[in-house]
Amino acid sequence: MTEPTSLPDLPPLREVIARHGLDARKALGQHFLFDLNLTRRIARAAGDLTTGTVIEVGPGPGGLTRALLEQGAHVIAIEKDSRCVAALEELGAAFPGQLSVIEGDALKQDMASLGERPRRVVANLPYNVSTGLLIQWLHTIQAFDVLVLMFQKEVADRLWARPGLRGYSRLSVITQWLCEVKPLFDVNPRAFTPPPKVNSAVVRLTPRPEPLLDVPIGAVERVTATLFGQRRKMVRAPLKALGDPETICAACGIDPTHRAEQLPVEAILRVARHVSG
Ligand code: SAM
Repeated sequence: MTEPTSLPDLPPLREVIARHGLDARKALGQHFLFDLNLTRRIARAAGDLTTGTVIEVGPGPGGLTRALLEQGAHVIAIEKDSRCVAALEELGAAFPGQLSVIEGDALKQDMASLGERPRRVVANLPYNVSTGLLIQWLHTIQAFDVLVLMFQKEVADRLWARPGLRGYSRLSVITQWLCEVKPLFDVNPRAFTPPPKVNSAVVRLTPRPEPLLDVPIGAVERVTATLFGQRRKMVRAPLKALGDPETICAACGIDPTHRAEQLPVEAILRVARHVSG
């Protein structure tokens, strides 16, 4: 267990970036955070970090990483950009034993077995791979204790959206089936260097001890793809791909004239259970 400490004497992040030539690369979704008040707020949203492991995807020059280390976290940071690794090693030297860096693609990492429990994921995600990463984590969600993630706002809104809201989608159903979703706060593009074109938001996902309904994830993926593929049609149309629509609706307590975008998460899960059983 590591007690939270105040930051050791670290060089300003802008200096680290200049010294290591870390000009931001669009292809890697690089938008860096320099404001320590903001990075501390993100780190604190994951709770007490002094036990277990924090996995950070995409530490970049280490702005958020500093805040995590300062909170006493043991951080495993996964970074694809080899240019950042030397800067992160310097940071690790200032917090002995608290930071390990894996150079590589987070999409190819099995994070479900990294480090000790409680296993938290805290990240300002690269937006081009954020939903891919989230879907991957949802597949092994019981391996994680909490996830505090920055997404582009449009994606964050999909995670907590309820029926009838514009963002209500496959991702809403799959995420809410497995996690409690708490939208925390929005972040203005000006907080990043360089600023992205869109707003961002930080969301906390807490895996449910049990999913809302016991159904194989493949069935939930298939049913949500089928229903939301034709989200504005009455569900009796897309349900034809899964069986007899009238039978499915009667068994699952669904009005066949409702549209997918109106159906509660639980109703969609009942369809998944029906077609998987
Ligand atoms: N955490 C830093 C911060 O808040 O200032 C940087 C966040 S920046 C939005 C995203 C980071 O993810 C970049 O450092 C980028 O190089 C890294 N990255 C992009 N794709 C990645 C991938 N597939 N696996 C691991 N890291 C990736």
